[in-house]
Amino acid sequence: MLGLMQDYPLTVDKILEHAARWHGEREVVSRSVEGPIVRTTWKQIRDRAHQVTHALRELGIGLGDRVGTLAWNTARHIEAWYGIMGMGAVCHTLNPRLHPDQMCWIANHGGDRIIFVDLTFAPLLLAHLDALPLVEKVIILSDEAHRPPEAVGDARVLMFEDMIRDRPTDSPWGGFGEETACGLCYTSGTTGDPKGVLYSHRSNFLHTLMTLQRDVIGISQTDSVLAVVPMFHANAWGLAFSAPATGCKLVLPGPKMDGPSILELLQTEQVTLSAAVPTVWQMLLQHLDTGDYTLPALKRVVIGGSAVPEAIVRAFHDRFGAEVVHAWGMTETSPLGTIASMTQDLEALPYVEQIPYRLKQGRPPLGVDLRLLDDEHTVQPHDGQTFGRLVIKGPIVVKSYFRSDRQALDEHGFFDTGDVATIDARGFMQITDRAKDVIKSGGEWISSIDIENISAGHPKAALAAVIGVPHPKWDERPLLLVKLKEGVTAEKHEFIAFLEGKIAKWWTPDDVLFVDDIPLGATGKIDKKVLRARHGDHKLPTA
Ligand code: AMP
Repeated sequence: MLGLMQDYPLTVDKILEHAARWHGEREVVSRSVEGPIVRTTWKQIRDRAHQVTHALRELGIGLGDRVGTLAWNTARHIEAWYGIMGMGAVCHTLNPRLHPDQMCWIANHGGDRIIFVDLTFAPLLLAHLDALPLVEKVIILSDEAHRPPEAVGDARVLMFEDMIRDRPTDSPWGGFGEETACGLCYTSGTTGDPKGVLYSHRSNFLHTLMTLQRDVIGISQTDSVLAVVPMFHANAWGLAFSAPATGCKLVLPGPKMDGPSILELLQTEQVTLSAAVPTVWQMLLQHLDTGDYTLPALKRVVIGGSAVPEAIVRAFHDRFGAEVVHAWGMTETSPLGTIASMTQDLEALPYVEQIPYRLKQGRPPLGVDLRLLDDEHTVQPHDGQTFGRLVIKGPIVVKSYFRSDRQALDEHGFFDTGDVATIDARGFMQITDRAKDVIKSGGEWISSIDIENISAGHPKAALAAVIGVPHPKWDERPLLLVKLKEGVTAEKHEFIAFLEGKIAKWWTPDDVLFVDDIPLGATGKIDKKVLRARHGDHKLPTA
């Protein structure tokens, strides 16, 4: 017997329509690529997104066609995004931090017919158009006055403002099933070719509802949300959906993600909640050290993408009275898989006693199933000690990759995250490492993440990373790489002494190297592949 409730496809066009109808005057503030701060509203964004749809239809785009974006977080990017998705085309967010060859490979594999591009990346994209045979039009997210010299007289290039001007603001949206493809995002591809994750309207809609729970990201209409995490990194962790879903104020940093620029937005826009990877916050905190700054409006900082160091959790709380909320997820999981919200018993403890739990990646929201498996696929206990491969299941998790014949799931329908983790008795999951970054010493696993996060808390450290390097007796031993703060000098033993008592003795790095650069990958995470290529043959003093 079927239920007798309405058929109401969960499609994301409804999210922006809701924002425009019920929170139409609430502001969206962007630092534009041209420079000035631009203020708009959800109603204006909705109208202009409909104009985008109208223009795309005229350009021959229809249901299921892929349209790329190569852009920073700005209101125009949101307009392009909803203009594409609302009509049932697929918005393919391209990551501009990738090497151009890889970016072209991804756009070709995705089958992008049109690409919306920011002024910043337009020259690069135009220089590579020959390598993008499927691309019919490039739409630059600016106006005619800013047409770059490379685009003058090129009929393939349209300027966004001129393209949408005077078009109808009611080009129809929706009318397709909720399983329809909606967004496409490729994983950074640290192994093999990048893989495309094809979100559906339903998966994005459900992910939005999941993140809106109070124990998850829990945005309110009253919040002012600064989305530093890029829209090309797993849908800005859902903020490009959850912000209009609540009708909160949304603040978008555009191309400027440095400490002073982020601080300016946090202060002038009275930001209450923000989200970014740890490296962004590390930069901001270093900048905050240079003056007597306050952030009275800031209440919550959501951090994910890499493990959050304790120094960040403490600094936001002790200096600015803001709560750090640690989350874990992947492009393949839409992305939010777990979040370290305090349980009722932990909430009762003083903040310092909560910190060990705030450093873990946390617990799954309703709709996410997690398991730890050993190599024989046996489910591992929740004892906080036993390491296992983390596998995940749910309506927001990938089933198979775009244009791949293979199911990405095991025999029980779980997706292998490639992460190694523990889960404790309270259900808090903690990532030990990416499976490929784990250091195997004498047959036992050492967590590189733990060591690097403690080391990053050393007052002289700007960034720290740990890799395994070959050792004749133990197979691998940890090597600590430290980038020191500007103008500071240090001795190796200072870092070894700092780790003493904080990690198991046998986890202590066999050597410390001071380096000028710790490379970050395309999503702002420490690039271990590059570090292993640079320092993998380092001769350990113990070898
Ligand atoms: P991406 O799909 O590029 O976002 O990368 C996902 C991967 O980033 C995960 O599989 C983890 O290895 C890592 N990751 C994400 N969030 C965290 C976190 N909070 N702590 C540690 N690793 C994380």
